[in-house]
Amino acid sequence: MTVNLLEFEKNGFAQFCAELGEKPFRARQLMRWIHQSGVDDFDAMTDMAKSLRVELKRTCEVRPPKVISDSTAGDGTRKWLLDVNAGNAIETVFIPERTRSTLCVSSQAGCALECTFCATGRQGFNRNLTLSEIIGQLWLANHSLAADGDERRVTNVVMMGMGEPLANFDNVVAAMQLMLDDNAYGLSRRRVTLSTSGLVPQMDRLGDACPVALAVSLHAPNDTLRDELVPINRKYPLKQLMAACLRYIEKAPRDFVTFEYVMLDGVNDTVAHARELIRLVSPVPCKINLIPFNPFPNSGYTRSSVPAIERFKDVLTTAGLIVTVRRTRGDDIDAACGQLAGRVQDKTRRRERRIEVAG
Ligand code: SAH
Ligand code: SF4
Repeated sequence: MTVNLLEFEKNGFAQFCAELGEKPFRARQLMRWIHQSGVDDFDAMTDMAKSLRVELKRTCEVRPPKVISDSTAGDGTRKWLLDVNAGNAIETVFIPERTRSTLCVSSQAGCALECTFCATGRQGFNRNLTLSEIIGQLWLANHSLAADGDERRVTNVVMMGMGEPLANFDNVVAAMQLMLDDNAYGLSRRRVTLSTSGLVPQMDRLGDACPVALAVSLHAPNDTLRDELVPINRKYPLKQLMAACLRYIEKAPRDFVTFEYVMLDGVNDTVAHARELIRLVSPVPCKINLIPFNPFPNSGYTRSSVPAIERFKDVLTTAGLIVTVRRTRGDDIDAACGQLAGRVQDKTRRRERRIEVAG
């Protein structure tokens, strides 16, 4: 069986080259060819000895997830639907802007956390993505751009695709370490953002292992409402979550937490909610990102009106908070936040199949 080199974490390359009897600098070269240059053809790795190239060709490959579809929206947003086996698919979204290009990366097929307003949460959890499936999304985006003769490359990564990244901690951290490595993607710590719905113990571990920029999906200013919208709040309520945010920031002074707040009409978007939010976040150096709700079939929610969003924003800004309203991108190809659904095998069908097998 061939080794998929996208499955290697940073140290994996060194170990692998040592096993082949190669010097450590070969590991760096190999990493640069694959991750920095996006090359998957060993013959093209011209500064490596011919014998090594032959050996690599015989035993290894660079295998990102298979592309099921590749679509570009009117605003330039590009979405890949990727096959991650056994009827599961995930989505990766490329969001070009004037001065940067952001890739929104998925970390799980489905999600177990069941936030009520999220399409991914509605489909349930299937499995964690492997390292090659996570870093493969970035590899594939850059490789596709290069293959198209496009000079742009991904300059920023947001772990905001399908899944809860901190619930797949080891693989997500290994992938982010490659994103930050100078011999791989060389992105600065601040250009990689991880968004979490608030897994408190893992937030602490992240601060030690890989302190990237942190976004926290708040969505409600009190426990009663957050228990309903973001059910993981019942396990890690706001007091614990806010304390974890402060601990995270203490490890990286001068940083701030981005609090994400989805704007749901009549649910969490009143002036009273805004005032409560101000009190809640006041101890934490932060920015607030308001996300107009992106609808999906049978969600049961509607997006707050533009005046309601503006009013909410004004209340926060007047209190001295820095507030942005997320511009919805790629909604004509269902690529906007919370619309990523992929195709996760549905649980009922799996159960039926088990019964068939058992029978
Ligand atoms: N699981 C992580 C990251 C993925 S979701 C998390 O929850 O933070 C990225 C962001 O999109 C989160 O803030 C999430 O709450 C938000 N989101 C989910 N569904 C949405 C929807 N339908 N409309 C707008 N934002 C949504
Ligand atoms: Fe999972 Fe995030 Fe969706 Fe909640 S919002 S269900 S944590 S992907």
